[in-house]
Amino acid sequence: MSMDFARTITGPDGRTERLPAKLFYENLSWRDVKEMPDKDRVIICQPLGAIEQHGPHGPLDMDINTARATVPLAAHRATQRGTRVLVAPLIPYGFSLNLMDEEYTADEFPGTITFSAQAYFTVLMEVCKGFIRAGFRRIALVTGHGNNLPTMQIVGREIRHRTGALVMVTAPYLLAGTEILAELEQGFLKHAEEFETSITWVVDEESLDLQMLAERRAPVDLESGRGGKFFRRDAVTQPASAGRLFLAEKSSEMSRGGVIGDPHLASKEKGERFVTYMVDKLTEAFEFFGQVEFGKGRDAYIRSTNSWGATPAQR
Ligand SMILES: [Zn+2]
Repeated sequence: MSMDFARTITGPDGRTERLPAKLFYENLSWRDVKEMPDKDRVIICQPLGAIEQHGPHGPLDMDINTARATVPLAAHRATQRGTRVLVAPLIPYGFSLNLMDEEYTADEFPGTITFSAQAYFTVLMEVCKGFIRAGFRRIALVTGHGNNLPTMQIVGREIRHRTGALVMVTAPYLLAGTEILAELEQGFLKHAEEFETSITWVVDEESLDLQMLAERRAPVDLESGRGGKFFRRDAVTQPASAGRLFLAEKSSEMSRGGVIGDPHLASKEKGERFVTYMVDKLTEAFEFFGQVEFGKGRDAYIRSTNSWGATPAQR
């Protein structure tokens, strides 16, 4: 698969949809950008990925597949429901130091490319500034790769502070984390395992070594995922919950063959369900973000953020 988003996509329900050209930022003209109605309500979504090793059975772009499976479809759905979302070209490289061994040595599981934290921060800041110069005020940074999140959050703070524009930060698997975790037989979501392999099965089956999976020859690593007193190695609940700490771990030190989890539990059917959960939640998140009233004082802000999605009685 190329780095571009597919314009013709098969949704999780099996229906094929042709997405409109103007859903994608790069297909707009400057006049489209300049004369866009209600531009302060329009969400510009910047999808973020990673190129990093995902076991001997999986492609380097597994994290990008999470974005491919979810972002264009959720943006399209939200737009159809009245919240316009534009999809910017995906930034393929991310922050993946955890997948690399010490600087200037060969990696045990090679193929990972990373920005330094400083470079990644700068890239995200420059791209956001470009959107703001184009007149956008709502930027959604959506990543398929968890280690991008801390930098994305810092960028969100900086952009708000420096420009007043509002940045939303999330990952589709976080939004649908409860639903996905409930179905994962391995009991956690981590790396090149049941979840990620299932998603890639849906998005780009040819990039998987299906024979290795069929013959159960891929590495399986369940005990490192389980964790201990201070953490689980779970991308949904770690590290932000009570009683937990963060360790700057190296994946080569704790994984088996570059995998944390069990890729043999993956299936296309599971992947399709996970994509459905993620698209639904991301669509709703875009709708929420489009309604946030910011820069208009406390009352408007609190009302818009607290009441969205609540029943009339809860408001
Ligand atoms: Zn991954």
